[in-house]
Amino acid sequence: MTSNYGRFEWKYCGICGLKLAKADDGESLRPHCAPCNRFYYSNPVPAACCFLTNDQGELLLVQRSIEPRKGMWTLPGGFVETGETTEAAALRELSEETGLTGKGLSLMGVSSFPSKHSPGIIVLGYTVDEWHGEMHADTDAMDLGFFSREGRPPIAFEVHQQLLVIYDDLRADHAR
Ligand SMILES: [Zn+2]
Repeated sequence: MTSNYGRFEWKYCGICGLKLAKADDGESLRPHCAPCNRFYYSNPVPAACCFLTNDQGELLLVQRSIEPRKGMWTLPGGFVETGETTEAAALRELSEETGLTGKGLSLMGVSSFPSKHSPGIIVLGYTVDEWHGEMHADTDAMDLGFFSREGRPPIAFEVHQQLLVIYDDLRADHAR
């Protein structure tokens, strides 16, 4: 995928629409709206995803039906919405993409990926102890499947690849 995006930067106030100027927030110069007395920060966006297995210990993956990386596979998950806990976001995305209801989340690991073209992303990976429901590919998903470690399809995002490394390491430790 090639990208023509410029570097991500706040240029206009999201409240009043005025062009932002640089002002000192005590740490460094940041985009600032004087009438609204508001600084604009650029931070990575938080996301959450689920590690959910069947009786054979195979992991649930979702095939993307939308760009970017359409046709490649991901862990069920997505971005955390304002007003939502990270756990609630993981379970909402699981439900939206797969039709499954989960509970008993445990934080397994965290990955992050900085980008010049976007604020970047931080992903919290949760294992899901219990789940039920009838599985069907839904929002943003064209197919679903449980995969063994050896049989995994191409994974779309580096943040998910990083979490899978953590997951595999933890399982290898348990097996010892
Ligand atoms: Zn403003």
